[in-house]
Amino acid sequence: MTQRPRYIAALDQGTTNTKALLLDEKGQVVYRASRPVQISFPRPAWVEQDATEIWDTARTVLEECFSACGNGDIAAIGIANQRESVVAWRRETGVPEAKCISWQCRRGAEVCDNLRAKNVDAAIFAKTGLRIDPLFSASKLAWLLANDSELRRRAEHGSVCAGTVDTWLIWNLTGGRAHVTDLSNASRTQLFHLRELQWDTELLSEFGIPLALLPRVQPSSAFLGETAATGTIPAGIPILSAMGDSHAALFGHAAFHPGMLKATYGTGSSLMTPVSAPALHDDRVATTVAWGLQDQPPQYALEGNISATGAAVQWAGEFLRLPNPVSDLSRLALETPDSGGVFFVPALVGLGAPHWDENARASISGLSRSSTAPDLARAALESIAFQVRDVLEAIESVSNSRVPVLLADGGATGNAQLMRIQADIIGRPVVASASADLSAQGAGWMAGLGCGFWRTLDELAAIPRPVERYEPQMPESAREELYAQWKEAVSQVLAGSKGARGACR
Ligand code: ADP
Repeated sequence: MTQRPRYIAALDQGTTNTKALLLDEKGQVVYRASRPVQISFPRPAWVEQDATEIWDTARTVLEECFSACGNGDIAAIGIANQRESVVAWRRETGVPEAKCISWQCRRGAEVCDNLRAKNVDAAIFAKTGLRIDPLFSASKLAWLLANDSELRRRAEHGSVCAGTVDTWLIWNLTGGRAHVTDLSNASRTQLFHLRELQWDTELLSEFGIPLALLPRVQPSSAFLGETAATGTIPAGIPILSAMGDSHAALFGHAAFHPGMLKATYGTGSSLMTPVSAPALHDDRVATTVAWGLQDQPPQYALEGNISATGAAVQWAGEFLRLPNPVSDLSRLALETPDSGGVFFVPALVGLGAPHWDENARASISGLSRSSTAPDLARAALESIAFQVRDVLEAIESVSNSRVPVLLADGGATGNAQLMRIQADIIGRPVVASASADLSAQGAGWMAGLGCGFWRTLDELAAIPRPVERYEPQMPESAREELYAQWKEAVSQVLAGSKGARGACR
């Protein structure tokens, strides 16, 4: 007698690693596989990855999962992926046309400058919820086509496919039968109309991108295709979810409803909260589709991205020439109860939400004869917490709500001192996930809704999730004084920059 499949294989294709988990019907992780992915910087401001390597690592970790359990044990595959990065490949052969242009790559800057010069920023924000920026897929694809006339010709004839990393992985998993993406990934391309829920023909023409290149947009939980046999991955396993990694982390926190806010602490940070409708009146933060459940209206979200959080710690550690920059700097920060009046505004690649000034440059202020390396270390940790408060307040103001707790995830949440500082600086509890795999888990849960492991969001919310809770300890007057000093330091940085601020307010 064949027994019913017991696991979901949940993939998280990230910038530095590709991971896969096996989740059982209780939502517990029973197996984990991971492979690093290379990244290259061929020119200043250019960042690329090898699309074939991305697929190879995904196949390898999934094969490991399939080998770790019995034949027929996997009910479905779910996918979380790095967002915005772009792959283009030949429809006939599946061979990539170029390297994957990473979300971090700024090569679309000129395309963006040209559009801004046409004063279409506000109109694009009103449709996509995104300010014009080379982060998003549109300018990357536009760059590819503008720099290869043969590719453009083939693209116009429909013999090229393009998409974000979810689309590339699903194409390969299905042996080239499915060219699809999900609502969350589509909403980060800057080509997708948030309210009409389709590729926008005017935007396609602004960016010079033929519709034939783009995948079909599906809900995040849907039948997206089924596997073709490859290695130890058998044929016929349904792919039942795809979501951008930040969206999947929000889902993995069970933050399904307005009033719940998560912050991911990685190299940079993303704060995201579900909202009942797109908030397109204010461009301090982006509006995006958090996810789309089958046969339901999309769940919208507000998102604010901070460019340098973990990167600020890394930079300060390198600046102090510490042998292990991040762990040594974290230890140094423990040597002092405060930063001694030192403020570090880590505008290392400009400032993202809510300030939006790509020309801003970092500052260290408040130094005195008695300032020490631990003061700078502490200031680096505090800079993360202050930036998160800046975005949190912008999100609260745009959504006209107050968030009772901050849900946290990502690599830097392992730093308990940082989490305590965060609770102090926002004056609210921080609840940090103990899981290092929240995005994969979120994608797995989403797939589990499709294959009947769980039926409702309430059932998912009831799955036990180990967390660490940090209560604020700092008196309000001390907190507000410190925050006022931080805001002053940020004002100085903005005043010193030649950058232009948002055009849509
Ligand atoms: P990403 O997904 O962006 O690669 P991760 O979630 O793996 O990021 O987190 C890595 C980031 O977290 C690095 O930028 C690092 O500086 C930061 N980080 C890791 N450990 C700590 C720590 N103990 N204290 C502060 N920051 C840390």
